[in-house]
Amino acid sequence: MRRITMANGETVETACLSCAITSGAVEPDGGVLLETEHFHAHQDVAYPIEGLVILASKRHIKALDELTEEESQEYIRLLTSIRRAQREVLGIEHVYYFYNEDTTHHFHTWMVPRHEWMQAFGRSVESVRPVLLHARKERNDEEQVLKVRAAIGALREALQRGEC
Ligand SMILES: [Zn+2]
Repeated sequence: MRRITMANGETVETACLSCAITSGAVEPDGGVLLETEHFHAHQDVAYPIEGLVILASKRHIKALDELTEEESQEYIRLLTSIRRAQREVLGIEHVYYFYNEDTTHHFHTWMVPRHEWMQAFGRSVESVRPVLLHARKERNDEEQVLKVRAAIGALREALQRGEC
């Protein structure tokens, strides 16, 4: 078991944070964006970036090639729907995707939108970590967090209406 401190200061003890979130034992700050049979999408407001989405499998696996055929079909369908919602609802032109298999959690894909302010950090993969840290340290005020919550709400509505 590991002790993990959440963005809201709450501490949870869990072997895997992804398991804790996808099972509903821990409510991600910002709420659930979408839940399906095999996946769970949410935003980690610890990184206050409008339209950032984390898509996690419900099964405790680490790598893409561990997905069943059914899971992989659902995965690509969800990535596509969420991506379309980011574009149509939030006007997001570019998204960076990443997941790492040596995570201490389990299989989850980050969908990190590119916003204008991120240009200052350069482009491509080397900009991602500085962007996330900057968001957490410098863009964590109430106004920004409200914008982020509004964006989550708009994405959630569009996805639940089945428009995307
Ligand atoms: Zn897990």
